[in-house]
Amino acid sequence: MNVISIKNLTISYHRKPAIRGISLEIEKGSIIAIIGPNGAGKSTLLKGILGLLPFDSGEVKIFGEDVDKVRKKISYIPQREQFDWDFPINVYELVMMGRYAHIPFIGFPRRKDKQVVINCLEKLEIERCATRQIRNLSGGQQQRAFIARALAQESDIYFMDEPFVGVDAKTEKSIFSLMNELKSEGKTIMVVHHDLSKIKGYYDKVIMINQTLIAYGNTNDVFTPELINKTYGGRLTILQKTEELI
Ligand code: ADP
Ligand code: MG
Repeated sequence: MNVISIKNLTISYHRKPAIRGISLEIEKGSIIAIIGPNGAGKSTLLKGILGLLPFDSGEVKIFGEDVDKVRKKISYIPQREQFDWDFPINVYELVMMGRYAHIPFIGFPRRKDKQVVINCLEKLEIERCATRQIRNLSGGQQQRAFIARALAQESDIYFMDEPFVGVDAKTEKSIFSLMNELKSEGKTIMVVHHDLSKIKGYYDKVIMINQTLIAYGNTNDVFTPELINKTYGGRLTILQKTEELI
């Protein structure tokens, strides 16, 4: 069954297309990487799927519905720089935000909501940071807190935009194992990822984009030197040698 269906999606900023004519059918229960060079439109694609940007053309369906009807089933972890780090909020409050979709009267979490939040904090091993301000934490702790928030939402699809940027190796490992746990529960996880050395072994499928869709398929089939070079337009040699990735 396809959980996300994208048809011919084009999104522009100031009339300049950032992504063009993207069509994708995403199956349930896999971990999918979105890769492409800086400015390729990776974040734009995620925001488009989430209904956060107006489309020039195209259509997105999630579980066969418009995104507004299925918001409860979707978690989104934005790219770090999009968060207002001066916003005064502690870890517990941030994670409780993940429960808002479940709380009938905003501001009155029930015992169950509190228990879910505590479980998520424990799962991400940040329960001791619960009362600390988000802005005072390390990068790894901040990302754990955002993942705990997404988890607290108990959704079916998780969108993560570069969750591994600025995190330590231990956090990276625990995020990957959590992603696998979610997958084993039948959830779908889409991750913008820029470290190409981690694609093989970690992701079932890869979406390669550079404004347009270059390829989408099983990692073993599409994560090839030819398609990587096509996606990065020869710019990759500066970053990493293609042969070392495969
Ligand atoms: P990626 O996530 O792959 O680095 P983005 O989706 O953020 O790429 O951006 C795609 C293109 O759209 C880039 O050229 C970027 O400069 C442009 N862009 C992104 N956000 C905005 C915005 N809010 N206003 C204008 N241009 C934007
Ligand atoms: Mg981005």
